[in-house]
Amino acid sequence: MLSQMTAIPDHPAGTDSPQSGTADLPPVPLTRLDNADPGLMEELLAAVADVARRAAFTLGEEVEAFEADFASYCEVPHAVGVSSGTEALVLCLRAMGLGSGDEVIVPANSFVATAEAVTLVSATPRFADVDADTQLLTAAHVEAALGPRVRAVIPVHLYGRTVDMEPILELARGRDLRVIEDAAQAHGARYQRARVGSLADCACFSFYPSKNLGAWGDAGAVTTGDAGLADRVRLLRSHGERPRYEHLLPGTTARLDALQAAVLRIKLARLDAVNEARRQLAARLRAAIGPDPLPPPEPPPGQDHVYHQFVVRCDERDALRSHLDACGVASGVHYPTPIHRSPAYANPAGPRLPTAERLSQTVCSLPIYATMTDLEVARVIEACQTFASPTERTV
Ligand SMILES: *Cc1c(COP(=O)(O)O)cnc(C)c1O
Repeated sequence: MLSQMTAIPDHPAGTDSPQSGTADLPPVPLTRLDNADPGLMEELLAAVADVARRAAFTLGEEVEAFEADFASYCEVPHAVGVSSGTEALVLCLRAMGLGSGDEVIVPANSFVATAEAVTLVSATPRFADVDADTQLLTAAHVEAALGPRVRAVIPVHLYGRTVDMEPILELARGRDLRVIEDAAQAHGARYQRARVGSLADCACFSFYPSKNLGAWGDAGAVTTGDAGLADRVRLLRSHGERPRYEHLLPGTTARLDALQAAVLRIKLARLDAVNEARRQLAARLRAAIGPDPLPPPEPPPGQDHVYHQFVVRCDERDALRSHLDACGVASGVHYPTPIHRSPAYANPAGPRLPTAERLSQTVCSLPIYATMTDLEVARVIEACQTFASPTERTV
């Protein structure tokens, strides 16, 4: 994904009609990172310089301050900074005592890390299908994937849209299952007025650079209301050490870097504005695009979408992507292979999950990022509209 990013074009943002000579414009990228915002860059570089001058790289003030800010933002008692979203998932599963012989239900259409974390603790992922409209796990799909060894379920707020958690939590309560939110794509979203990250036993966040809250490298966090669980994750991320050179349990090196914490603290203050900009861009795209390609449905009241990705669907997905490319509009596929069909997990005896399999062939992610200009929005819309009406393209 990173290779598709380009620097901000050096012409000013405009509202010109896209017809007025787009041929010489650089392509609209799928996303943009912090180097597209000179004001933000200056602030972030100063914060990084400050940490470097103090040589305060490991844990300490900066990490504690970010953890306090992030816990308060997520409206949850505890946040623990870790080295990636994958480690957040791994450490939660370990802290819950899950391992060999245990099974964990995960949606088949997620980034591979959701399943990988389960494998990394020697437990086994059980893949569930998803709802065709929302592309998310539902209680019915969890129920269909249940088995005697299932101990936990990891709903994924995929693309930034909130999973309908209440029915899943209710099912889990009745069967003594732990519920872990994979919130790696949904920082700041709300479900029934509560923040993502506060909805289940614990939640895992990734701050990979392109996520809605992104660091300058790999970083992640665990949020939870369970003080014991937070404490175990804290021990595990740093060799089970407390105090220095006393190792209470075998852990690992999976701390959040202080440099990343400094970057994240500054960006957290802007996250609500970034998410609101994404929602507004999505509303403009949705209003102008469709029915082919089909824009994502709007979430119902009480649910939310922060548009980590704006994912349209199209039966002729590859033709759509070629057309977008010819129009100078980048696109992506999240994800081209459902996890249970990837070589790492393919199992001929495994279940067929028709919706996840179908989605992997029809989904297409369009550009969306808070610094998108009116001209860029217009170019994306025009590219989609000319695909829907191919005859108009030739006039
Ligand atoms: C990004 C992501 C992860 C993994 O996060 P890393 O920080 O890259 O390890 C896990 N789950 C989902 C849904 C993601 O999008």
